[in-house]
Amino acid sequence: MKLAVIEGDGIGREVIPAALEVLDAFGLELEKVPLELGYLRWERTGTAMSEEDIETIKKCDAVLFGAISTVPDPGYKSILLSIRKELDLYANVRPVKPLPGIVGVTGRNDFDFIIVRENTEGLYSGIEEIGTEISWTKRVVTRKGSERIAEYACQLAKKRSKKLTIVHKSNVLKSDKLFLDVCRQTAGACGVEYNDMLVDSMAYNLMMHPEKYDVVVTTNIFGDILSDMCAALVGSLGLVPSANIGKKYAFFEPVHGSAPDIAGKGISNPLAAIICVKMLLDWMGKPEARIIDDAIADVIQKKIITPDLGGKASTAELGHAVAKYIIQNL
Ligand code: ATP
Repeated sequence: MKLAVIEGDGIGREVIPAALEVLDAFGLELEKVPLELGYLRWERTGTAMSEEDIETIKKCDAVLFGAISTVPDPGYKSILLSIRKELDLYANVRPVKPLPGIVGVTGRNDFDFIIVRENTEGLYSGIEEIGTEISWTKRVVTRKGSERIAEYACQLAKKRSKKLTIVHKSNVLKSDKLFLDVCRQTAGACGVEYNDMLVDSMAYNLMMHPEKYDVVVTTNIFGDILSDMCAALVGSLGLVPSANIGKKYAFFEPVHGSAPDIAGKGISNPLAAIICVKMLLDWMGKPEARIIDDAIADVIQKKIITPDLGGKASTAELGHAVAKYIIQNL
């Protein structure tokens, strides 16, 4: 197993080392391939990512990624979007689950759902023209793209409570009708109970009744926006992990960005990156990954938490405490 490790910029350089300490605590045979990509690399060399980097990543099985600051170059192509396309990482998976003892803006902790977002097409198709009088981006919905994301979401729902919510805006965006139809057909064929909801209504309902949902499947931009909004349900952007899954590769990244406002201070919360390690181990089929939940519950109970959660611990101290628990209890 080969793992490409991309710390990136800003707090990516703090949370990924903490997450790696946690990964190392499992003592697995795993080759790490560090890659320097992003804004700092662009400043130093004029290139944020090269073809050679993509080839190196393709020789790995999975990627652990921190965050990248946007490069202020008009010709810059998003590194994340490029990697997702190159590795065909079609499913973006974002679990939204409260951590013990931590509540978000709504003050509730009775929910546990997963947003599954189509990751390769929709409004992020990359087909666009930018002008001074008119600019446009093509929103692409294909049967193939909709089928495989619906299939992924249904398989996930079957392992959970068999409930699927299809989120769309087909009353206005005609392209969403295809997405909705394919999701309905796939759910029916898989024996998964489903309902559907317009994205605006879903945003409201996720805030008011998050406990009603289990697996939510949607198109690219809706999933992007809803899942960031749901970070507020959990309590901090520093707590929400994500996985980008394809047939061959998997890519794990915290939902937060490079957070330049707190970068370099050693106070960023590494828990999202640490939960990414749990998702990586789950993807590798390692049942011992479960101990990460216990370790996190233990450090929260001992108040070894970062300032965003009201604590005083540094990024490294939190990572170290989680790793220590695993070494002592595995
Ligand atoms: P980028 O341009 O890379 O997206 P950003 O600052 O616009 O960076 P985020 O990095 O997602 O966006 O962060 C938004 C805010 O949330 C930050 O200003 C920071 O205060 C807070 N934040 C994000 N991640 C964390 C974290 N891991 N720990 C603590 N606070 C965080």
